[in-house]
Amino acid sequence: LQFLRNLPKIELHAHLNGSLNIDSIRELAAKVYGVQTKEFSTLCERFIKFEKGAKLDDCFEKFGFVHELTSTKEGLEYATELVIRDFAKDNVIYVELRTTPKANGNMSRRSYLDTVLGVIKNKSDLYKIKVKLLPSINRAEPVAVAEETVALAVELATIEPEIIVGIDFSGNPNQGNFKDFIPVLSKARNHGLKLAMHCAEVDNPVEIREMIRFGMSRCGHGTYLSDSGFEHMKEENIPIECCLTSNVKSGTVANIGAHHLKQLMATCAPKVLCTDDSGVFDTTLSDEFFLATESFGLTKSQCIALTMEAVEHAFATREEKLMLKMQIYKYTRLQN
Ligand code: IMP
Repeated sequence: LQFLRNLPKIELHAHLNGSLNIDSIRELAAKVYGVQTKEFSTLCERFIKFEKGAKLDDCFEKFGFVHELTSTKEGLEYATELVIRDFAKDNVIYVELRTTPKANGNMSRRSYLDTVLGVIKNKSDLYKIKVKLLPSINRAEPVAVAEETVALAVELATIEPEIIVGIDFSGNPNQGNFKDFIPVLSKARNHGLKLAMHCAEVDNPVEIREMIRFGMSRCGHGTYLSDSGFEHMKEENIPIECCLTSNVKSGTVANIGAHHLKQLMATCAPKVLCTDDSGVFDTTLSDEFFLATESFGLTKSQCIALTMEAVEHAFATREEKLMLKMQIYKYTRLQN
């Protein structure tokens, strides 16, 4: 495990509000809101507890807890820093954070994104980590909200092209209709933003076909892809973002042994290991690698190869990829 902890890692699928671990949630609550009650501790324990047979829908209820804590500028600012810090602590050297801009009495969607961007710009160097931002479209919200998000992303990407590099399409897959979002997703793509799309997280063959036809740069989860769907992803070099603990705890995969990572490894199809929501699912990227080694017998060199593969699929520039690969190579050479 120590080798995996120290391995410089690449995280490509992390939702900001889902990535606050329980200690950081306590820290955030205490520092920004002065909350340290017993009742709050109980809420924290409930946050990471999964009943046997939990369903994906149950997971979405959990986010409300963190969303309350990040509903002010100060809360969001500190939460973003804590998430960056925690990934860096796990030796993640590059992370693409995704987050849904939210409007409330305290913030507009624009100030939400400005706040997250500000922290990324000011804190990445301190924690020695490269951070990119993918504004998220929540498919459970109206298309008009997605249009505002994409318009903001396009505008901010002209100011911060090195940070805002794509759009994430996520939210509860049992809600909303993918087809309705095609025009707004096309607009994002036509403006040069990459698309990371949650696809085939649940068994919905019609939608999966529509999504495949539309295309994407990376596929989130891909759990219910058919054999031809997997083949298509391989042919198009579209990696599946595999989130082992998330898929098992949220019940979209029956058990770890049944995870499609096994098939992706066996067929040499493109894939990346990711955490999804390291806070909610109480994991780290090192833990995910460890789980993969325990469950599928991945060797050290396969773990290194997976990390290098993640670099290839990152929404980073060629120069950035080269730097990341050199960092990984340096570490692995020292180990030999
Ligand atoms: P946020 O966008 O920073 O607020 O991160 C939490 C949000 O990410 C949730 O409310 C969902 O919209 C989305 N999300 C997190 N995990 C998943 C997932 O596994 N599938 C689909 N959407 C997700």
